Amino acid sequence: MTCFIIQHIPPGVYAGLMNIVIIGGVAGGMSAATRLRRLDESATITVVERSGHVSFANCGLPYHVGGVIPERSALLLQTPEALRARFELDVRVQTEAVRIDRDRRVVVVRSLMGGSESELPYDALVLAPGARPVRPAIPGIERALALRSVEDTDAMVAAVGGARTAVVVGGGFIGVETAENLLHRGLAVTLVEATPQVMAPLDPEMGAPVHAALREAGIDLRLSASVTAIGERDVELSTGERVPADLVVAAIGVRPDTGLAQAAGLEIGARGGIVVDDHLRTSDPAIYAVGDAVEKADALDGSPVLVPLANTANLQGRRVADLIAGRDVRDRPVLGTAIVGVLGLQVATVGWNEKRLVAAGRAHRVIHTHPLSHAGYYPGAQGLALKLLVDPGTDAILGAQAVGRDGADKRIDVIATAMRGGLTASDLAELELAYAPQFGSAKDPVNMLGFVDENLASGLTDSIQWHEVEDAQRDGVTVVDVRTPEEFAAGAIPGAVNVPVDEVRDRLDEVPEGDLVVHCAVGVRAHLATRILQASGRSVRNLDGGYRTWVAGMASRS
Ligand code: FAD
Repeated sequence: MTCFIIQHIPPGVYAGLMNIVIIGGVAGGMSAATRLRRLDESATITVVERSGHVSFANCGLPYHVGGVIPERSALLLQTPEALRARFELDVRVQTEAVRIDRDRRVVVVRSLMGGSESELPYDALVLAPGARPVRPAIPGIERALALRSVEDTDAMVAAVGGARTAVVVGGGFIGVETAENLLHRGLAVTLVEATPQVMAPLDPEMGAPVHAALREAGIDLRLSASVTAIGERDVELSTGERVPADLVVAAIGVRPDTGLAQAAGLEIGARGGIVVDDHLRTSDPAIYAVGDAVEKADALDGSPVLVPLANTANLQGRRVADLIAGRDVRDRPVLGTAIVGVLGLQVATVGWNEKRLVAAGRAHRVIHTHPLSHAGYYPGAQGLALKLLVDPGTDAILGAQAVGRDGADKRIDVIATAMRGGLTASDLAELELAYAPQFGSAKDPVNMLGFVDENLASGLTDSIQWHEVEDAQRDGVTVVDVRTPEEFAAGAIPGAVNVPVDEVRDRLDEVPEGDLVVHCAVGVRAHLATRILQASGRSVRNLDGGYRTWVAGMASRS
C-alpha cells in the first residue's frame, strides 16, 4: 500500500458546511454516508448510484433467485426517500458519475433516466464503485448472466422461470451459492470450475467435503474444465463435451471497478485496484476510496491485496467517514475472514491458506482436527474439520479453515479475533469460551487447537502431514494404525500395521523397528499411542488429522 504525503487535518476542521459526494450507494458508500451524517449534521452529502437501488443486500441476491428469500422487497434495505427522511441524504439512483474534474473538484453525473448531465462540486469525494464481474472472452458470453445488482437478480429470476438446465461457470463463493439456489429451484445444474477445486480459499483436503456435498445434492461438478463456448441451449467444455444449459451464469470472479478513477488519473496498483493510504486517500488527497474497488493491505505481510467482501467494505465505509470528519482513525490491514454456506455446510476461512504459504516460501506448522460442534452426548452434534496454520518461529496464527454443518462460523470468528488481537496459537489453549453441552465442549475445539499447537511447539510431540506419508514409507518409516480392527478392516493406509491403542502397551514388541508414523481416525487416540511409544524409546510422529484428513487429502488428488 503506497503512502502519500498528506496534509494533517486537525479534528473538526471539516465539521460544518462541507460538500461530500459519494459514488456508489451500497456497502461502502452507504456506510460512509450514514456515518458521516451521524458525525456532521451540517454537511451536504450526496450519493450517486448507477443502479436503481441503494443499500441493497448483495449477499442475499442468490437466495432470492433460489426462493429462500421469497420477497424481493426484503433485499431492499433502504430507499432514497427513507434515507432523506432519516439522514438528510441526497441519494440519486439511476445516476452515473461519468467524470471527475479534479482541478475544479467537480463530479459530472448523468441521469440514466433522462440522459442529462450535471455537476456536483465536492470538498471531499468518496469512491465506492465496487467491482465488476469478470466476463471471459468466449463465444456466446453475451448470453451469460451475472449476479451483482437487483436488476441482475430480476433478470435471473425471469430466466429461471423457463429453464430446466443451468451451467454455472466458476466455483467461487458466488458460483457455489448460485448453483445451490438454482438447484433449489428445480434446475439440473452443472458447476464448471477451471481449477481442480472449488472455493479457492480452502486447501485441497479441506475442499473435499465441499465437493462431496455438491455431488451428493445432485450438482454435476466439473473440475479442471472450462467453458470454451456458449451456444443457444448448451455450453461447450474444454473436454469437448457439450452440456445442456437453458441458463448460463458467469461467476468467474470480480475486478475492481476503476474506470472512473483511472480516467481521473488516480493511481491504480499492480493488483488492479485503486491505491489508497491508511487514511483511505487516493493519490489525490481530496478523493477517498473504499470497498471492493481498492487494494487493501494484507494483515500478514502488508502486501496489497484485493479482498472483495462486505465486512471490509462496510468497515472502510465507516472509517472513511471518521477520517473525513477529522477523527483520528486508520484503515486496518485485512485478514479476509469469510464464510459461505454450501448445501448445509458452513465453509469458513481466515488469513492465509497453506497453498499461499507454500507459494510464498513461508515456513508454517499445520494442525488438522476433527472435533464435534458440541458435546457428543448432547443430541445433534455435527462433525467439524478444522485447520490451523501457524508460524513455527513465532507461534503466530497465520490462518485457519473450518468446514462442517454447525459451529464452523464461531470457531473461525474466535480465531479471527485472536489474530486481530495478536494472540499466538498456544494462547488459544487458554481462551475461556462459553460452554454448555448444546453449544460447545468444555474444552472447545479452539482450545484443542491450542493444546495441539502447544504440544508441537514445546517438542512434546511431532507430526507428519497427509501428503508426506508416502515419501516417509518409501524412506522405511512404518505406519501404525491404532484404530480398532473393525475400523482398520473398513479402510486403511496401504502398508499400515494395526495395533489398537488399548493394546499398544502389551504389544510393544510387535511394533516394527525404526521410525514410526502413528495414526487413528482423527489424531486423538494416536496422541496417546505416540506418548506410549515415545516412552518406550521409539521415534514417533502423529499423522496430523488422522485417517480422516489422509482420506480427504488423497481424494483431492484423484
Ligand atoms: P458495492 O456494494 O458493489 O457497491 C458499489 C455500487 O457502486 C454499485 O451498486 C454500483 O452500481 C455503483 N457504481 C459503480 N460505479 C458507479 C458510477 N460511476 N456512478 C454511480 N454508481 C456507480 N460479501 C460477504 O462478505 N459475504 C457474502 O455473503 C457476500 N455475498 C455476496 C453475494 C453476491 C451475489 C455478491 C455480488 C457479492 C457478495 N459479497 C459478499 C460481496 C459484497 O457484496 C461486496 O464485497 C460489497 O458489496 C462491496 O461493497 P462496495 O461498496 O465496495 O461495492
